[in-house]
Amino acid sequence: MAERDRHRAKHGALRDRLRVDPGTAVDLEHFDPGETYGRERVEAALELSEGLERLTALQDRIWAEARHAVLVVLQGIDAAGKDGTIRHVMTAFNPMGCPVTSFKVPTDEELAHDYLWRVHRRTPARGEIAIFNRSHYEDVLVVRVHELVPRDAWEKRYEQINAWEHQLADEGTTIVKFFLAIDQDEQRARLQDRVDDPTRRWKFRSADLAERARWHDYRKAFEDALSRCSTSWAPWYLVPSNHKWFRNLAVADILGDVLEDLHAEYPAGEAGIEGTVVR
Ligand code: AMP
Ligand code: MG
Repeated sequence: MAERDRHRAKHGALRDRLRVDPGTAVDLEHFDPGETYGRERVEAALELSEGLERLTALQDRIWAEARHAVLVVLQGIDAAGKDGTIRHVMTAFNPMGCPVTSFKVPTDEELAHDYLWRVHRRTPARGEIAIFNRSHYEDVLVVRVHELVPRDAWEKRYEQINAWEHQLADEGTTIVKFFLAIDQDEQRARLQDRVDDPTRRWKFRSADLAERARWHDYRKAFEDALSRCSTSWAPWYLVPSNHKWFRNLAVADILGDVLEDLHAEYPAGEAGIEGTVVR
């Protein structure tokens, strides 16, 4: 029996455990980012490698079929592991069908448009699995915490985001959103590591400390985004991410289940081609 099936039989599917059911009020203060749902690190390596093989096979069909578009959104506080998830999980995908966009501080051109403009340009074409490293949610996160627009402007965005995601989903895009949750102490350790390790120092900016000082404002903003924007057409998954190995396998497992449900098939090929001998 595959590792995944063994755990599934015992603890239930992670997809069901970690999904934020629409209408639930998320409380991050009492959420344990160190949770591993009965997994042990040693077996996790095998489960992850099985999970990655599954993703590779699924993406190949999705790309070949070119019918479904898939959008994967990654959010989380600084050092929550967005980049690491891309490196360790999305590596299962053929880069040809897997555009990754990292959303930074908006440029002047981006700021001159509505906040969804830069995001909509990066949504996946049919056959693609697009990864958003940060996303339109920054416009109700950093923008809210720093009051970059007035309250009545960001307040409206939760509904606007739900409507926009609904339209994308209606037109054939499957949306899956992961919130990577770590606690303050884990963030402290990871930021410290960035300072101390010369190969990782480039990731650290002194502004990260000012952001860290706003932990509670960010927590509230995350709670609202998760509570107000987890919908049947674009659910959030709340992933305990203190343990990188658990985070990777949870994202791989949930994504695998979501992709499997698309039932992508290889195209039949041209009529009459079967049995053709190539000379
Ligand atoms: P990093 O992900 O570490 O490369 O940093 C990207 C930075 O861009 C983060 O500090 C984000 O908060 C910031 N950022 C992303 N989107 C927005 C936005 N819409 N408005 C303001 N800042 C943003
Ligand atoms: Mg950063």
